[in-house]
Amino acid sequence: MSTSDEKIPAQPSFRLGIDLGGTKTEVVVLDQSLQPVYRKRATTPSHDYEAILTLITSLVADAEKSLQVKPTIGIGTPGSIASHNGLLRNSNTICMNGKAFLTDIEQRLDRAVKIQNDANCFTLSEALTGAGKDYSVVFGVIIGTGTGGGLVVNQQLLTGPNAITGEWGHNPLPWLTEIDGTPLCYCGKQACIETFISGSGLARNFEKRNGVTLSSEDIVLGARKGEEICERAMSLYYDQLSRALAHLINILDPDTIVLGGGMSNIEEIYREIPRRLSDYIFSDSVETPILPALHGDASGVFGAAML
Ligand SMILES: [Zn+2]
Repeated sequence: MSTSDEKIPAQPSFRLGIDLGGTKTEVVVLDQSLQPVYRKRATTPSHDYEAILTLITSLVADAEKSLQVKPTIGIGTPGSIASHNGLLRNSNTICMNGKAFLTDIEQRLDRAVKIQNDANCFTLSEALTGAGKDYSVVFGVIIGTGTGGGLVVNQQLLTGPNAITGEWGHNPLPWLTEIDGTPLCYCGKQACIETFISGSGLARNFEKRNGVTLSSEDIVLGARKGEEICERAMSLYYDQLSRALAHLINILDPDTIVLGGGMSNIEEIYREIPRRLSDYIFSDSVETPILPALHGDASGVFGAAML
């Protein structure tokens, strides 16, 4: 899958990244020292594929006009380009699934574009200039509305022959004791890690157990105030997240795991998870630093620019 294009003179000193999210689309341009020199946000027309292509084209044109440079372009988006047919799949911006997004956007922009899923962009940015920059093997995890993962080894993003490196969120939750109706995942499987450790998973499971509807933020706040059902839910959540990460450590044993996404802002995670990991991993001590992302919400768009 070559995306090089000899016809257009490359200006690799400037890198434009686009984070194509389900609700908003963000653009950043980084200079040669990977510092942002341009940023813009727009609402994603998430139900209209043609409108998404038009939006990206105009955002790129605006950035180029403003900076008077023609940068390299990387796009981060949920889902991935299938190796075998070049079509986008697994995106929660449903209108993009089954589309030849890479070909279509390269035609519109008349140059080569690199595309990776948002978790891969996140991991790349955290491994190169973020919380993971002092480590060789960095596993990045996004725990937000969904759950994604990515792997960077010696500053290189690994994607794999199926373009799914890091997608452990759709493995079943290990050491599963939650037998009271394991949740069905949008991917068609049951008891995926994502259905427990994502924010929406926490809220859904809380509602099922307690018959009370609360957002994941309110469950966290409730636990901090000492409300018992929230405390119980968070204790279970920390255990589930520990099991999910222990599973990963047993297979890969990365030098660090960097967490991003809305749920990664829960400070208690960085105290609760390390002390629970040893219950599950195949080692008598746990040396793996579990770190919060340094770039926060900007990791995705920074990583897209670094592709
Ligand atoms: Zn799944």
